[in-house]
Amino acid sequence: MSWSLPIFRIAGIQLRIHITFLLLIGWLAVGYYAQGGSAMALGRILFVLLLFLCVVLHEFGHAIAAKNFGINTPDITLLPIGGVARLERMPDEPRQELIIALAGPLVNVVIALALFAVVGWRGFAAQATMGGPDLPAQLLVINVVLVLFNLLPAFPMDGGRVLRALLATRLSYARATQIAASIGQGCAFIFGFIGLFGNPLLLFIALFVYMGASQEAALAQLKDISRSFPVSSAMVREFRSLPQDATLQEAVDALLATSQHDFPVIDESGNVAGVLTRHDLIAALRKHDPQIRVAEVMRRDIPTVTTGTRFEEAFRIMQECNCPVVPVLDGMKRLVGLLTPENVTELMMVHSAMPKRRAA
Ligand code: ZN
Repeated sequence: MSWSLPIFRIAGIQLRIHITFLLLIGWLAVGYYAQGGSAMALGRILFVLLLFLCVVLHEFGHAIAAKNFGINTPDITLLPIGGVARLERMPDEPRQELIIALAGPLVNVVIALALFAVVGWRGFAAQATMGGPDLPAQLLVINVVLVLFNLLPAFPMDGGRVLRALLATRLSYARATQIAASIGQGCAFIFGFIGLFGNPLLLFIALFVYMGASQEAALAQLKDISRSFPVSSAMVREFRSLPQDATLQEAVDALLATSQHDFPVIDESGNVAGVLTRHDLIAALRKHDPQIRVAEVMRRDIPTVTTGTRFEEAFRIMQECNCPVVPVLDGMKRLVGLLTPENVTELMMVHSAMPKRRAA
């Protein structure tokens, strides 16, 4: 389930807006309207939109740096605390991560310098200490804040990535992530604590920082596993498949006779033709006669992976297609296993329960 709406596509990158970001804009608009009428509300919303334009440019900074290392960015999502550029894969070398992480804040440094040329030192100092309605000066101050906030050495801020990249040159990737994520969670508690005394926006930020830090730690654990295991170690090897001409009734029999929910469907030549999920089977039984063929109701758009596919890649494919199961093929394109989210979770549980053996 995704809580973000696609806005537009540029240079192959889909820009998305998280629902909570729209709620924030609405909340601000109502608040400012109540304070100072529609002129004030419009002015403030214009400022917020320009602020988020700076954030989008910041994310494009990351995306362009990543592209330089051959890493694509499928989408950029705007959240109330800023943007998130989702890279297709994590950079392998700490040096690449360092450059990609710094490229975002660098964009805000450039914007700030350009605005500084317009506003000057006096305008900046006046805005920073007293505030005021001068739009360029406001944007200058906020870009400086963006640079400082993003360079906090904690996940999920860019500074956390910089810290991890520096730590990863001496420590293991997982250990480096753990340290940066713990600092991130610590920052979240501090933001939350300060937020309790007056600034609800900080509570919001604290929540996102905490979730981001936890997610980053989980991703690093997955990456750690993906380095030590191929897809074949996490796939289900004992499963039932259905021939293409099996009836829905036969599929029901297989569903009830096994603990399996989703069944790969095989054509006459032995290749995977599609997948019949429990959800689709039940939906089909409502509409159709149980004697129709499974080939008529199965999903055909399910991607497959091979036993040689990197685990990280397979996991990404599974997440992107939102499939309950991904068939695993061998070198001869024969079906040899199934990759399911439950199995991946089990592998992670087993893996994290055996830290000593992993180190050995
Ligand atoms: Zn960034």
